[in-house]
Amino acid sequence: MSLPQTTLVIPTLGRPSLVVLLRALADQTVPLRSPVVLVDDRPSGTDLAEVLDHELGHDHGLELLVLRAGGGGPARARNLGWRHARTTWVSFLDDDVVPPDSWYADLAADLGAAELAAAAGSVGRVHVPLPPDRAPTDWERGTAGLETARWITADLTYRRSALSAVGGFDERFPRAFREDADLALRLGAERGRVVDGARRVTHPVRPAGDWASLRQQAGNADDFLMRALHGRHWHRRAQAPVGRRARNAAITALGLVALGAECARRRPLAVGAAAAWAAGSLELAWARIAPGPRDRAEVRRMLLTSIAIPPAATFHSLRGLVRHRGARPWRGLPDLVLLDRDGTLVEDVPYNGDPTLVRPMPGAAEALSRVRALGVRTALVTNQSGIASGRISRAQADAVNARVEELLGPFDAIYLCPHAAADGCDCRKPEPGMVKQACLDLGVDAARTVLIGDIGSDVAAAEAAGAVGILVPTGATLGAEVAAAGLVEPSVDGAVDRILAGAW
Ligand SMILES: [Mg+2]
Ligand SMILES: [Zn+2]
Repeated sequence: MSLPQTTLVIPTLGRPSLVVLLRALADQTVPLRSPVVLVDDRPSGTDLAEVLDHELGHDHGLELLVLRAGGGGPARARNLGWRHARTTWVSFLDDDVVPPDSWYADLAADLGAAELAAAAGSVGRVHVPLPPDRAPTDWERGTAGLETARWITADLTYRRSALSAVGGFDERFPRAFREDADLALRLGAERGRVVDGARRVTHPVRPAGDWASLRQQAGNADDFLMRALHGRHWHRRAQAPVGRRARNAAITALGLVALGAECARRRPLAVGAAAAWAAGSLELAWARIAPGPRDRAEVRRMLLTSIAIPPAATFHSLRGLVRHRGARPWRGLPDLVLLDRDGTLVEDVPYNGDPTLVRPMPGAAEALSRVRALGVRTALVTNQSGIASGRISRAQADAVNARVEELLGPFDAIYLCPHAAADGCDCRKPEPGMVKQACLDLGVDAARTVLIGDIGSDVAAAEAAGAVGILVPTGATLGAEVAAAGLVEPSVDGAVDRILAGAW
């Protein structure tokens, strides 16, 4: 059996179930040889790595990397995780699933099959254990829906290049709802690009408070983002049930009419509307009580929440309708940011061969750190025609690059063109050679690559390679170059802001 070339990415809120999951991963029949990236999505709290060291002991044998997303939801947390992965595949697991001890071996078989099918992803099966001695509650039935839901990320592996090509999960989905179906649709799941695997995990029902079903109504807002992105028939495409939005809106409207009529002292109308409102709310309650255990606590819970759900659902629907109207397709981050050296990252000292003269541009170091912290790779692309003209030696140019790396690194790669314009090489910018080579070496699609530079030939090199150029002009940049550039920012920091905002 060949081991799966994958990285496990687990977004977590630090729930106790995480330790159960990690113990199960440490106890596989075929020992886990894949890196495990835990993305801590708690806004604050103790260092998860320390907690795990204490809980798991030191000899668990897992290759753990803990990253901090600090809130923002599972979409953002998973993006942070997969961008740090350097494997062909990325396997997402939720922090509340329990894999059997054959899971890793089964994953290997599933990925082998996905490879043969040239699939973008492989989805595992989810089993939700329900109480054997009574009917499941509303909450338990909701969790059990994971068994039949399509493309949920509880146990889902995607090709890293596929994630990169679409910018990963859409971070405008703030909770664990619809972000998985949205990504699957963008990756062509409808066309069979995501295949069903044979591996399975158990997903126990989490304890929940009495008002959990009410809180879930926030998801109605996310449905309107789905609609904006995937059209009116998104439910059918995502194989998601339509739900009760229209009925909830009608019940809410009846309630409002009853209140209004009462205020206007139109008693018969108020009574009629109130009766219709009550009938609608009771029908909802009964629809939720009937399939359940019908014990006192559940009946009480269903009656109370069924009164509150229609207005809450309607409120969140309206909120989503307003917020997501005309939403643009998700862009996400590039996979690689290339940077010109002289005049962009460091002050331009013409034909500099002296490392002691290297002065970073203001804010450049911080801007690079921000990009790297998100798992985006960085590389240097610099023209050094001084080598061809004999003004500096190759060794001097390399020494200057080494100093730049010391001050602003680490870079994933450094590319240098030693030729003069007259040499007719294909690496000297505005030729695209160095950009293409960087994409090839780092396994990145040029379309997911940005080059930041201070003159027109930087932008031209990017565009000739199929990448995106951002111009950061200095006093030496020609007005015509600024006018010709599509994207212009006042500083490298500003260029990074633009990139992180997905506006590249
Ligand atoms: Mg330059
Ligand atoms: Zn060259």
